[in-house]
Amino acid sequence: MSTVPTSSVATTSSAPTTSADVAVVGLGAWGSQALWRLAARGIDVVGVEQHAVGHALGSTHGTTRLFRELCLEHPGLTPIAGRARELWRDLEAATGTELLTLTGGVMAGPSAGRVVSGVLDAARAAGTAVETIGAPDARDRFPVLHALPEDHVAVLDPAAGLARPEAGVRASVDAARTAGARVVRARVEAIDEARAGVVVRLGGGGTLTVRQVVVAAGAWTDRLVDLPLRPRRVPMFWFTGRDPAALAPGGILDVGRFPVIIRELDDGRCVWGHGAQLPGTDGGFAVKLGLDDDGTDALGFSDADPDRLDRSIDLGRDAAALADAVAHAYPDVDPSPVSGVACMYTRSADQQFHVGRLPGRERLVVAAGDSGHGHKHAPAIGELLAQEVAGASPFADTTFMRADR
Ligand SMILES: Cc1cc2nc3c(=O)[nH]c(=O)nc-3n(C[C@H](O)[C@H](O)[C@H](O)COP(=O)(O)OP(=O)(O)OC[C@H]3O[C@@H](n4cnc5c(N)ncnc54)[C@H](O)[C@@H]3O)c2cc1C
Repeated sequence: MSTVPTSSVATTSSAPTTSADVAVVGLGAWGSQALWRLAARGIDVVGVEQHAVGHALGSTHGTTRLFRELCLEHPGLTPIAGRARELWRDLEAATGTELLTLTGGVMAGPSAGRVVSGVLDAARAAGTAVETIGAPDARDRFPVLHALPEDHVAVLDPAAGLARPEAGVRASVDAARTAGARVVRARVEAIDEARAGVVVRLGGGGTLTVRQVVVAAGAWTDRLVDLPLRPRRVPMFWFTGRDPAALAPGGILDVGRFPVIIRELDDGRCVWGHGAQLPGTDGGFAVKLGLDDDGTDALGFSDADPDRLDRSIDLGRDAAALADAVAHAYPDVDPSPVSGVACMYTRSADQQFHVGRLPGRERLVVAAGDSGHGHKHAPAIGELLAQEVAGASPFADTTFMRADR
């Protein structure tokens, strides 16, 4: 195994002690992929995770995430999503796991709204030709959109689909282990930079002394490094049809006819989601829909302490704003959800990620501030982190997501 320059070895009296060249703190969506990409480069790396691999206590659970290649959040994300798609496929091949199912995507709303103009900006920047259709055509091709107002339009993203969060974490950790990475279950209490190396202090008293640390701690990141982040409680919900037959294969709410859709309403609320998956597939047989967090409490979301997150779900209270939006956007869906689970976004001030080195902490590389749109990019973020650690040039321009901006 090749290494980056060698670390010093940790010493403690009784608690677990491990040495490596690089430590990855947090094995959620981003950290697990960093572990894989670092190990794939032959770097001696250890991942440290406070919970079981693939757990449901952070931001990476709930069986599906939307994958979109034309990213309305920033035009610079399109090449990152493209590289992520390639790496999701590589990971599928390496582990024999289905991680990405392309359904095609429909981004619909007012033509001057955030969704449509954001996707068109992304397509222009990428030089990608896209199909934009008017409401009558959209209603015809996607009957689930029959309430789309006459003056709305839809942009099609054929490379959109569904990614699988828990399976993705497990697969990347498996692939990393196969490539030589080790995994320690412990809570990192502090990261101290010393002359001999970076000392990662574990709960229970163990330490790990390494040359560099990747911090990918999701909603817990600001416990370890100083970044302007706001963890938010953002639950997700599943729905059935007003007519149960609508959910059946070929029905109007089946994922084959209700692909990945983001619908912006006239009041600016954005409903994201997809139709029911086939029975027996990971995720079950229900429509998944949610509202994007606007940073206020008006939509049922709130600032959160990740160690004290309210994980109970009140389907009426927590989904009140969503139920109202669903009733407007999708009249075939019963707007009372049948199930929900608490999850977290970690909002950055401008809703772009923070990826890279922090000034004054040059041996730390961070990936944080997912702002609710980070899963699709996870393998590519892992690749960028591995490139930064190895001193290689990034595969894409990441200026807009610099950690120290
Ligand atoms: C409701 C909802 C819907 C979403 N929909 C989409 C979508 O459709 N498409 C999309 O691309 N993205 C979506 N996202 C966002 C996406 O899920 C996140 O961007 C992604 O999961 C973030 O991963 P992460 O690695 O930053 O965080 P996490 O997965 O939470 O990973 C952080 C890890 O660090 C560990 N950790 C933290 N502190 C320590 C410590 N001190 N010691 C050891 N371990 C530690 C945690 O236990 C955790 O495992 C959605 C998010 C939510 C909540």
